Amino acid sequence: MLKHAVVIAGGGPTGLMLAGVLALTGVDVAVVERRPDQTLAGSRAGGLHARTIEVLDQRGIAERFLKEGQKAQVAAFAMIPLDISDFPTRHPYGLGLWQNHIERILAEWVAGLSVTFYRGREVTGLAQDDDGVDVTLADGGTLRAKYLVGCDGGRSVVRKAAGIDFPGWDPTISNLIAEAAFTGTPKVGIHRDARGIHGISRVEYEIVDGKIVYKDYGPFRVMVTEQPVATGEPTLADLSAALIEIYGTDYGIHSPIWISRFTDMARQAATYRDRRVLLAGDAAHVHAPDGGQGLNIGVQDAVNLGWKLAQVVKGISPENLLDSYHAERHPVAARVLRNTMASVALRRPDERTTAVRETMAELLALTEPRKHLAGVMSGLGLHYDLGLGHPLLGRRMPDLDLGTAKGALRFFTLLHKATPVLLNFAEAGAIDITPWAKRVQLIDVKYDGPWELPALGTVPAPSAVLVRPDGYVAWVGDQSHAGLSEALTVWFGAP
Ligand SMILES: Cc1cc2nc3c(=O)[nH]c(=O)nc-3n(C[C@H](O)[C@H](O)[C@H](O)COP(=O)(O)OP(=O)(O)OC[C@H]3O[C@@H](n4cnc5c(N)ncnc54)[C@H](O)[C@@H]3O)c2cc1C
Repeated sequence: MLKHAVVIAGGGPTGLMLAGVLALTGVDVAVVERRPDQTLAGSRAGGLHARTIEVLDQRGIAERFLKEGQKAQVAAFAMIPLDISDFPTRHPYGLGLWQNHIERILAEWVAGLSVTFYRGREVTGLAQDDDGVDVTLADGGTLRAKYLVGCDGGRSVVRKAAGIDFPGWDPTISNLIAEAAFTGTPKVGIHRDARGIHGISRVEYEIVDGKIVYKDYGPFRVMVTEQPVATGEPTLADLSAALIEIYGTDYGIHSPIWISRFTDMARQAATYRDRRVLLAGDAAHVHAPDGGQGLNIGVQDAVNLGWKLAQVVKGISPENLLDSYHAERHPVAARVLRNTMASVALRRPDERTTAVRETMAELLALTEPRKHLAGVMSGLGLHYDLGLGHPLLGRRMPDLDLGTAKGALRFFTLLHKATPVLLNFAEAGAIDITPWAKRVQLIDVKYDGPWELPALGTVPAPSAVLVRPDGYVAWVGDQSHAGLSEALTVWFGAP
């Protein structure tokens, strides 16, 4: 039986990101992916939020995405735009880039690392014991792993086989989405009626002066709201019938590249870990696509889990470090479920709901409410509850321009290998972490600029910060080093 330290079921965006982080830290990781290659029939997710661009930047790969996508103000709540151009980040924008391109670029990155792929193979079951997990495949094969991570999407076989509950809310609306061609000339743009919101546009576009300009060639992307709620695999006939009901014609729709149905079902795994089985991405949370958050939080689940799993597999940290994965990431998706449910409610077409939406838009035009919600939707305002203390604690470390003995560098470059960093802003040599020296990079640095956090504003300058491989601050020094040994032990193992 083939053995790996970690087996990941599913090589979508979440599984690829997790595989990359584990491989960077030298863990023997394998991905089992049902699809024979990375090709994705439809375009699915539309892009990346600012924090996801930052976490890719922390791995040194953001440029690969930026050069193919379209920078734009994409953060929104219930289709009310939330401009983040005044946020203190190198990336005060989102990126328009279809999921098939995001997956291709991630897969190219992972291909350059040491990851085993079992493509065209499907996980069908699992059995855990005290030392590991047997993973059964549809073709009769078996893999053995110390840990199995289900990144196998909303219908996760791993979640079901592990017996993890998936409580939540049934759908109240459903939408058909497709990419196809028309013999006629469709009515391009957003169309609202008593059923809800519908839209037709070309797949390919450019952002010009902050506005979307669609190309006049290539397939169309069609999205229609269905009444009543429907389920199951849709057909071209379903889409044609829906278009006729809404537009009075199907514009001669034909040659579908992809037809799918999505709903506002909102469900979340009751636990992200059952002993040696973990869940991440859509396997752990599903919700309406409002706000474009699913892929983004899946990738960020992977970034949170990857370094913790690596330390546990290597015996650096006890297994309970993995409990912090659930503790930190479950509330993030719970909040996304809540905001997508609110957004779905606010896009109901009746006049009273429209009045509520317009009132909300008035409030979100004010600076503080906008910054608050923009921090949530962009991911830049995320705060893990790591206890009381300096405002940086549990928040993302900004990508500062630092002075070092070896010259100037951007902070994020220190995270490229997914290892922890302790920055000492005080006198050089003031901190000694000899027992952790092989695990944590300690660097004496200079920084005289402001300390500004998105959605929060200016915070006092610390004398030192301990930053986890996922870019979140685990400890803040304030002239004293009180609590540093404890923080190093909690996050990076006993001395
Ligand atoms: C219309 C639409 C628009 C969206 N827009 C956005 C957006 O703008 N922004 C955003 O962030 N998100 C968006 N999303 C959500 C986004 O597409 C998902 O959240 C994202 O794909 C989740 O990634 P994942 O890797 O967790 O799961 P998936 O992408 O579902 O990947 C799971 C992988 O596992 C494989 N797999 C499944 N079962 C098995 C098995 N048993 N064995 C082996 N392999 C298996 C699958 O082939 C797949 O490759 C949108 C979704 C839809 C439907």
